[in-house]
Amino acid sequence: MSTTIKKIGVLTSGGDSPGMNAAIRAVVRACAYYNVECVGIYRGYQGMIEGDFKAMGPRDVKNIINKGGTILKTARSKEFMTPEGRKIAHDNLKASGVDSLVVIGGDGSFTGAEIFNEEFGFSVIGIPGTIDNDIFGTSHTLGYDTALNTVVEAIDKIRDTANSHNRLFFVEVMGRDAGHIALNAGIGAGAEEILIPEEAFGLDRLVDSLKKSKESGKTSSIVVVSEGDKIGKNVFELKDYVEENMPEYDVRVSVLGHMQRGGAPSCFDRVLASRLGVKAVESLLEGKSNYMVGLQYDKITLTPLEQAIKGQSEIDLELVKVSDIVSS
Ligand code: ATP
Repeated sequence: MSTTIKKIGVLTSGGDSPGMNAAIRAVVRACAYYNVECVGIYRGYQGMIEGDFKAMGPRDVKNIINKGGTILKTARSKEFMTPEGRKIAHDNLKASGVDSLVVIGGDGSFTGAEIFNEEFGFSVIGIPGTIDNDIFGTSHTLGYDTALNTVVEAIDKIRDTANSHNRLFFVEVMGRDAGHIALNAGIGAGAEEILIPEEAFGLDRLVDSLKKSKESGKTSSIVVVSEGDKIGKNVFELKDYVEENMPEYDVRVSVLGHMQRGGAPSCFDRVLASRLGVKAVESLLEGKSNYMVGLQYDKITLTPLEQAIKGQSEIDLELVKVSDIVSS
C-alpha cells in the first residue's frame, strides 16, 4: 500500500457505545499489520487539546474486544468548538508526528472532524459509534445491536411482572431524534404499542389502541416510548393521561436509561467494529480522507462525512407496518 501516512491517531468522542473498544483494537492492530505507528488519544478532542497521547501496539489492546465502554475514555469538548482550541490540538498532533486521525463517535464528533480537516487539511476517517443508529450511510452504528439486545432482555423481564399483575407498562428507551431502538426492540419484545419521534401517534389513538387491545383479551401491555417521542408529553405524563382514561389499568413506568449504553458488545458489534476499524486504516493509507466507514447491504462502504452528518437515517416504514400487524 503506497502511502505518506506514518502515524495514525485514534480517539473516541461523544457518548460511549459498546463496540468502541473492539474498534480501537482493530485500528491499532491494522496499523501494526501495515507497519504504521498508532497513537491512542484519551478523552476525545479534549485529550487532543491537552496532548493526552499514548503510543499503542497490538498488546495494548489485548482482552478488550469483549468490553463495553472505551479504554481511551470519551468526552465532550467545548474548547474544540473554538478555532483556538482546534489550533492547540493541531499543534499537539504535529509535535507528536500524528498525521491522520480515526474518530469513533456520532455526528457531533464527525462535524468536529470535518471542520478540523477543512482548517488544517488533516486526514480524517470516521467510524460511527453511537447506540442510536441515527447516522446516514450505515445500516448499523457501533453499539446499536448490543443496545437492542439489552433493551429486549429488559422488556422481557418487565413483561413477566406486567403479566403477573395485569399491568400496563410504559418503557422509555434511548433515541432523542431517532426511533430505531424503540421500533426494533419493541417488535423484538412483542410490544403492544411503539411511540417514536418520526411518527406523531397522538394520545387519543394511543388510548383507543390500548382499549382495543384490552377488549381483544390482552391482560397486560407494554408500550415502548422513544425518549424523543413527539406526542408532546414525557413518559410520566403519558402514564397519568392513560390512567385517567383507562382506570381499569394499573399503569407503571420504567425508564431504562444508561444501562442501554453499557455491557459487553454483541458478536455482531464486535465483527462490525473489526471490519470498520480495518477499513478506516486502509482508507487512510490509500490516501482517502473526510469519509465515514459504514455498513451497507453487508458491505463496508465509504460515505463523505458531510453526507453522513447531514443525511437522514430514515426509519423503515415496513417495520412500522409489521409492528402494527404483529401486535394486534
Ligand atoms: P452522541 O451521538 O453519542 O451524542 P456525538 O459525537 O454526536 O455522539 P457530541 O457531543 O455532539 O457527540 O459531539 C462530540 C464532540 O465533538 C463535542 O464535544 C465537540 O468537541 C465536537 N464537536 C461537535 N460539534 C462540533 C462543531 N460544530 N465544531 C467543532 N467540534 C464539534
